[in-house]
Amino acid sequence: LSTWSAVPAGPPDPILGVTEAFKADKDSRKINLGVGAYRDENGKPYVLNSVKKAEQIIESGQPDKEYLPITGLAEFTKAAVKLAYGGDSAPLAGNSVAVTQAISGTGALRIGGAFLGRFYPHAKTIYIPSPSWGNHTPIFRDSGLEVKQYRYFDKKTVGLDLAGLKEDLKNMPEKSIVLFHACAHNPTGIDPTPEQWKEISEVVKEKQLFPFFDMAYQGFSSGDFSRDAFAVRHFVAQGHQVVVSQSFAKNMGLYGERVGAFSIVAADPEEKARVESQLKIIVRPMYSNPPLHGARIAATILNNQKLYQEWEGEVKHMANRIISMRDRLYNNLVALGTPSEWGHIKSQIGMFSYTGLSQPQTKALAEKAHIYLTADGRISMAGLNGHNIDYFSECVSKVVK
Ligand code: PLP
Repeated sequence: LSTWSAVPAGPPDPILGVTEAFKADKDSRKINLGVGAYRDENGKPYVLNSVKKAEQIIESGQPDKEYLPITGLAEFTKAAVKLAYGGDSAPLAGNSVAVTQAISGTGALRIGGAFLGRFYPHAKTIYIPSPSWGNHTPIFRDSGLEVKQYRYFDKKTVGLDLAGLKEDLKNMPEKSIVLFHACAHNPTGIDPTPEQWKEISEVVKEKQLFPFFDMAYQGFSSGDFSRDAFAVRHFVAQGHQVVVSQSFAKNMGLYGERVGAFSIVAADPEEKARVESQLKIIVRPMYSNPPLHGARIAATILNNQKLYQEWEGEVKHMANRIISMRDRLYNNLVALGTPSEWGHIKSQIGMFSYTGLSQPQTKALAEKAHIYLTADGRISMAGLNGHNIDYFSECVSKVVK
């Protein structure tokens, strides 16, 4: 008998399953709207020019391949927290933000979960929005936290359930940990407005909740890094001791390079040093030190004014292309007389849109129209382009009618 004969087969990943089905389909009209990666006007993966130029600069310096320190490349982490918190941030000016490079956003969340699991001095329960990115629950569970949910999505309006959200925050035990998507909420594409964030911040303060921001899409919502960081910066300005996970997968297109950061606002430089020493103790036995190349690319872009500006332009271009697809999809659906209200397609933001399509409708799209999306009706707007948007609109209109 094999040692592993009792290992049960795990369920397939729901999103990777969509890609498998797409790959197996031989129809030329097929569309994959499952993946969370940007695609250009021709449906192809996109390597940013600022990234290519940064790689040339790095290469010309004939760099070595030595190990990074446990918390990563300092030129990268310093610039990353500046991007998140803003150049005029008080905790940055006061040298009280602890930070470590991380294996992209996922790794940042995992380190954050492990740190809270080990040191958070109150109940180790984290509340995540319902719905949330599918990986949040396993990440935090594996980090040793209990995971619960708060209301976020209003099915009737296909919008934010602000009243339900606030009520749930008010009913949490004091000092609970709460995860917020800083911008471009995945999977719904629905973000609180600045005014709503201010209300949320008030409740968080009242209940002494502990805010954990997942910022995987900075710049990707509006095309503007500061606007997309509003929630994080407002909470910090309001005196909340936040923690933040950052990813450069989407906004720099560095998906496979695994570039991210996890940061903690501490009270002062001395506390920051203690916290950072414990981050090292978490990282060292997990993977010793982070990968080098992607962090060098991000650091080169973030610290070079010309490249930074070019990058900003490219992020705007990606965000705007997605926004223009939202407009076209909305206009098409209305022009085709598609039953129901479609305003949410335009008001949602970021890579994803919760269409409101039902499970049988998404199934029909796959079987009859070769269009693949997750069963919850979420589509990646980045998978739409000038070549497929009319076909997609017509097929959606048909399955809804
Ligand atoms: N958080 C959210 C909400 C996401 O949607 C993603 C990616 O899809 C991530 C974090 C982490 O992505 P990565 O580990 O590729 O940076």
